[in-house]
Parts: sequence; C-alpha cells; structure tokens
Amino acid sequence: MKTESFSDFEEARITGVKVNYYFICKRKLWLFSKGLAFESSSEKVALGKLLHEIVYPASKKKEVLINNLIRIDVVSRKTIRETKYSSKMEEADRWQVYYYLFYLEKLGIKREGEIAYPKEKRVERIKLTDEIREELKEILKEIEEIVALPKPPEVEKQSYCKACAYYDFCFSED
Ligand code: SF4
Repeated sequence: MKTESFSDFEEARITGVKVNYYFICKRKLWLFSKGLAFESSSEKVALGKLLHEIVYPASKKKEVLINNLIRIDVVSRKTIRETKYSSKMEEADRWQVYYYLFYLEKLGIKREGEIAYPKEKRVERIKLTDEIREELKEILKEIEEIVALPKPPEVEKQSYCKACAYYDFCFSED
C-alpha cells in the first residue's frame, strides 16, 4: 500500500487542503493539485485567518510549518487548531484536521485537534480513533490516485459550484 509508511507520505506530498478538497469535489482536488489558480479559496483561507486573529488575539498559538508541507496552529502542548470562515464544509474540515493529527502521530507527536468557527462562536473538538486512522489511509490512497489521473474527473454539479474558484473553468460553454 502506497500510503502505509511515513516516507510514503513524504513522497506523496499530500497537504491538508488536498484532503479538504477530496471531500468537497474530486475535480477541484485534481485542478488544485496541478497548481491551477484558486483565488477565491485563498480569500476564504485569509478570511479565516483574519477572523482567528480578531477573535483569539491573546491566544498563545504558534503557526508551525512541518516538513514544508503541513501548516498547523499550535494552541497548547496538547492541541492544534484549524480556523474556518464558515462550517458549510464541516465534514471536509474535520478530515483535514484528522489528517494533521495523523501526520503528527507518524512523527511521534500525539495531539488533539479543534476547529474554530469564530463567526458561529463555536469550537469543534477532534480526536483520532482507530477507525478514523484506517479510513484515512484509504482516503490518502484515493487522493494519490486522483492526483495521478491524466485528466480531471468529470464535472459533477454541486450546490456550491458557483462559489468555487474553478466555476468558469468547469461551466464555460467552450
Ligand atoms: S466548480 Fe464545481 S465541479 Fe468544478 S471544481 Fe468547483 S466544485 Fe468541482
């Protein structure tokens, strides 16, 4: 299995955003993995960060970039945090944080996670279980397979397509 060992993770260079996009749209994951523009997604990330700074100004969080791949907010010795602008993509957010915890675990670092939704004044706690670990291994394998496809998966219209940075690319008439 390609993603069984940590060295394989290194090879695959799977970021948390790719795990997030896997749950949002496989085509989006492929387009993003090829480095195609994603302006509006960046804006959402930036908005999330800005909200985080406004709502948690006194927090002792420290942003850490691990292996030039995973960027994590460390808020305490026990906890990492991901801040999101809205909870519309809650499942994708949750798996992104599971992945961070899994990745850290592979480095011998045990942590718990939380997802902050400052606009909703809500924090969701995230913990790895054996079941999640097994599912995650399958998900990472599938991500590798999707990214390796010679062309993007077909368009599958979603309710949130209009808010996607790739909307014009997916739905132009040409
Ligand atoms: S516009 Fe829709 S189908 Fe196209 S990449 Fe975005 S979410 Fe996927």
